[in-house]
Order: sequence, then C-alpha cells, then structure tokens
Amino acid sequence: MSSLLPFGTAGQWFKGSLHTHTTQSDGKLPPAENMQWHADHGYDFLGLTDHNRVTDPLAFTAKPPLLAIPSVEISARRGEVEYHVIALGVRSMPIAHHQDPQATIDAVNAAGGLCFIAHPYWHDHTLDDLLTLRGHIGIEIFNTGCWLEINKGHSLVHWDGVLRRGQRVWGLAVDDSHFAYPDHGRGWVMVRAERLDEPTILDALRLGLFYSTMGPEIYDVQIQGQQVLVHCSPARSIFLVGDIYHCPHAAQAWDGRPLTEATFTLRPQQRYLRVEVVDMNGQSAWTNAYFVE
Ligand SMILES: [Zn+2]
Ligand SMILES: [Zn+2]
Repeated sequence: MSSLLPFGTAGQWFKGSLHTHTTQSDGKLPPAENMQWHADHGYDFLGLTDHNRVTDPLAFTAKPPLLAIPSVEISARRGEVEYHVIALGVRSMPIAHHQDPQATIDAVNAAGGLCFIAHPYWHDHTLDDLLTLRGHIGIEIFNTGCWLEINKGHSLVHWDGVLRRGQRVWGLAVDDSHFAYPDHGRGWVMVRAERLDEPTILDALRLGLFYSTMGPEIYDVQIQGQQVLVHCSPARSIFLVGDIYHCPHAAQAWDGRPLTEATFTLRPQQRYLRVEVVDMNGQSAWTNAYFVE
C-alpha cells in the first residue's frame, strides 16, 4: 500500500493563499493589512500577486505576520488571447507585461520563480491555448473572484482536458481576492513540507506536494494494487476522476449521513486519476492528478 503524493510524506501541512491583490494594484487592502488578515485566518504563507508589479512584503512591514513570498500577476498576450501568469518567488518583474505567455513563463523560471496560469475559464481559454505552453507548474482550477463575479471560477474541464492529453500540470485553488466584497478565504492550497520557508514551500509547490480546497480536508489517498482508498473530512460525495467514463467512480451520501472514506477500483485502461471531495455544503477539495505508469 502506498499513498498518493503528498499524503503519507514526511512534514506537516501549511495553508497558503497564492493569488491576492493589494492597494499596490486594484485591491482594497494595503499589503500589511492583507497579510494580517491572512495570518489572522490560519494561513501560514501567501503570495501578494498585484498586477504587473512585484509586491515585496518587506517593503511594507519589517516583520510579516506569516511567510510572505514576493510575487506578481503578469499579463501576457498571444494574438487575441490574454493570459495572466501568476509568478511566485520573484524579486522584480522578470519580463515586461503583455509579452508572449511562453516567453513570460520562461522568464519567471529563469528568475528562479515558479508560475501557473490564472483563471483559464474566465479568459475563455481553449485547450490549444493551454497545450502549447511548457514550464508552468499548473493552472488555476478554482478562482473565488471569477466564481462570485461571473460564475467562471471552476476550470476543471480545462484541467482534465490537458491532463487527458498528457500534460502533467497541477491544479490550484485560489481566491484572487481584492477585498472589495467577501472574495477571500474560499480557495487555498494545503502544502505538505518539512519547513515553512520560501525555498521549501516553492519546491513543494513545484513537486505538486499539495491539494487544493474550498474547505474539505483530504487526509489520505492510498493505492493498493487496483484499489484506491480515500479518507477525508465529512463529505456528500467522493469522486475518483480520470480519463475514462462509462463506469461509476463516485461514493454518495444517499442517506444523508456524511462519508469519510471511499474505495474505488482502477480500470485497466485508466492513465490518470485524481480525487475530488465535496462536502455537505457543496464545497470541493481536489487532489493533484496521479499518472498510472
Ligand atoms: Zn487575473
Ligand atoms: Zn488576480
């Protein structure tokens, strides 16, 4: 029996907010207040991702109340298609804004940061818009602001689309909070790491050692032969999602009693799997995808 990463690996869980705006761009809270709100609400780390300018936490407070990673949301463009690239762990703009998205990703990586593609559904990205890109760690699969404003917060179809075509990218839940209305504290990542420091957290994100959530907790996903066992906080539904259909891969709390575990059987042709847990309020948590070799 082995656990799907990051479950069962050494370390502890750290709660992180990867996409939020301050008064350095179009957010309502100054950087220090934004950081304090996250610290007060159980977050261990965050990236302040203002538009097209790096927000360095240390420029606003000598002692941040949580691990605050210098970050930026970089606008990019290819033809008519807009991209927003979230870059974490950069000290200055690695490239001008509105350049090609691949050049933007490459520049972030060359600067020692990591990046992912923001809100594919909100940007109405096609699979081709995403499949041409290389070097990003993943895409946003849930964005609170895009959900609350125009109901285009969930990009799971985009994610399964690229996964099914063999692109191994992680799925990230974020708020994209601006604090003009309650758009915060609804989407985050739980990272498994040995220590809470910038290099360790960035490495864990690169390696996919996290799950994304709107609230539910996933405790373990074990694989034993063809069996997949899931343990989680009380749920209405537990799904094993992958690249096959014509077979049920769901456990449902039909009788109204919440589920805390489920067992599924992998299909012989199945190439990847991921677990999604939905709680009694309809809020989801998502593991990263695991490719069956
Ligand atoms: Zn954006
Ligand atoms: Zn944003």
